[in-house]
Amino acid sequence: MTIASRQLRIGKRPLYHVAGLLLACVALRAAPLPLGATPPGKVALVILSHHDDHTWEWGFGGFIAKLSDAGFTCYYVRTTNDEKDSGIGWGKGDQLNLRESIAATRILGMKEVISLNWRNDHMDSVPIKEVRAHYILMIRKLRPDVLLTWNPWGHYDRNPDHRKVSRAAGEAAWMAGLPNVHPEHLAAGLKPHRVPLVYYTFRSDYGKGHVPNIAIEITEDHVRRKGEAQLAHKNIYGSPAIAKSIRAQLDARGLEIPELAGLTDEQAVDKLQKWSMESWSRKTGLENGARFAEVFRFVDEWDHLPGLTQYLKDNVVKK
Ligand SMILES: [Zn+2]
Repeated sequence: MTIASRQLRIGKRPLYHVAGLLLACVALRAAPLPLGATPPGKVALVILSHHDDHTWEWGFGGFIAKLSDAGFTCYYVRTTNDEKDSGIGWGKGDQLNLRESIAATRILGMKEVISLNWRNDHMDSVPIKEVRAHYILMIRKLRPDVLLTWNPWGHYDRNPDHRKVSRAAGEAAWMAGLPNVHPEHLAAGLKPHRVPLVYYTFRSDYGKGHVPNIAIEITEDHVRRKGEAQLAHKNIYGSPAIAKSIRAQLDARGLEIPELAGLTDEQAVDKLQKWSMESWSRKTGLENGARFAEVFRFVDEWDHLPGLTQYLKDNVVKK
């Protein structure tokens, strides 16, 4: 069918068909999510799979910077050793990725990276009970007010480490509060601690079970810092080869990006990555009534009883 004949057909459609189409488009546009306040507390624990998970587009970079600015002490648990995430051999890659992860967390104001060093892409061979036990130990030791992690319902994500970590961390968040779970921790002087506030994330295009219910507004400074934190992972995000490949593909079609003209591939990749992070944060903000934002699935400690959060909101008063 030619373009002209397509236009003719659309032109002949009755008006109510066009109106119906427009209404359907409006209905499909997602409603803005409520903007969440900065949570109360002093300690935030971020449990994810890899060295860079906290800083990429679906990560928590802006929110972590916001929590740090609000006085939170923030810890990052890097669950795997990222041995596959480099071209310089497993051992060297692990060490390089850990160094870059530490540099990135510093930009966001975090205190420490705790690397559990399970083998990258081998999480499926580790019993979930063992991974969960490590997280429960971390939670009881650091006693976070806020946990940021993968959404256990993002189970269609194609990354096996993301899926495994999501389930173990989701279970650890509440099981750490039960005294009869890993009583050996109590014998060692630790106390049970259920994490009261949990924010989940996932790639929205892979983890289809992940449905955000809250937006967190972030500032231009938070966006800048999360872009820099992402680029601190030079091994995977700052490679000049990325810009070189994009420019070569455009060049083959007789195209170019004037803004990148005269820049080295190293400078160009820096610009491209910062643009990507900034535009993603701006798009998420615009969709939710803010200039810049990140979106998450939020649950609190009352979430296991349907309606209890709302009941408490409506009925609790100061004694
Ligand atoms: Zn990852």
